Amino acid sequence: MKKTKLFRLSCLLLLFGTSPLAAQQLPPVWKWDYPQIAATVNKVRAGRVLTPKAWPTGARVAVALSFDMDAETGFLRSGSLSAQPLSRGEYGPRVGVPRLLRMLDQHNVPVTFFVPAVSGQLHPETVDAILKARQRHEIGVHGWVHERIADLPAEEERTLTRRAFDFWTERLGHKPVGIRTPSWDFTGETLSIIRDLGFLYDSSLIGDDRPYEVLAEGKPTGLVELPVEWILDDYTYYSYDRPSYAYHRMSDSDVFEIFRGEFDKAYEEGTLFLLTMHPFITGHRSRLAMLERLVVYMKSKPGVWFATHEHVAHAARAQLPRP
Ligand SMILES: [Zn+2]
Repeated sequence: MKKTKLFRLSCLLLLFGTSPLAAQQLPPVWKWDYPQIAATVNKVRAGRVLTPKAWPTGARVAVALSFDMDAETGFLRSGSLSAQPLSRGEYGPRVGVPRLLRMLDQHNVPVTFFVPAVSGQLHPETVDAILKARQRHEIGVHGWVHERIADLPAEEERTLTRRAFDFWTERLGHKPVGIRTPSWDFTGETLSIIRDLGFLYDSSLIGDDRPYEVLAEGKPTGLVELPVEWILDDYTYYSYDRPSYAYHRMSDSDVFEIFRGEFDKAYEEGTLFLLTMHPFITGHRSRLAMLERLVVYMKSKPGVWFATHEHVAHAARAQLPRP
């Protein structure tokens, strides 16, 4: 095949969704023409902002706390099969979640857990505890086994996401309405899969710090995005890489100050404060104390609405014009 033909075919494969292998065979982006670049960028983009004038109960700001209960799956996915790393994953549902639920119960704060289906099966008693808590916490989809969707053929990503969706539908007794993709990855197929499964919202993209509508090739989708950010993720500050002994841990006070600064600005702007945390990280004693301090601080302000991602997404979607 001629080189130019091969190049065009590769671009088409990238734009219409295929494995990253095809993307790796593409020439570097500075050799593309502008329409090809624009088509790639426009495949999934941020659309209209969906912050309401006032949140339910007339609140000024919505606070959506989420916990990705990966448990052992994050380590299994990386090929860490020995008991030591797996026990680090076990800590989350075994210790972190019960400790967290006690704190949330004390302050009457609802949150959202994103749980891989395999983690839900490995820890049924923790799932029961989440579902029985009085705050009516939400559970959303987080992959089948925290798979690396960026490395999967499109059909495999679709099959695993569907399997996770079906698992939670049966376990919860209703369809889950929210998804956070494992590691926030997003392939050329992800949006189509999410839309086909009828999710109300996604929480994996970073295009804003306010809720927004996702656009697919420039067209509105009705899908609400509750954006995440590394600055609002506990992993950023507490990650520990054992093989390299790289430990980037910041002090709990420093993390508190960053989160408080983010919340203060969200409060001033009247938008959304969303945190991504992990029970095996923030579930530890000193870090949970930091989070409790933050909850108490936020609760000391008037007009703060603590809600699950589902409730925030419903309030955001109400901003869309009726079809
Ligand atoms: Zn995760």
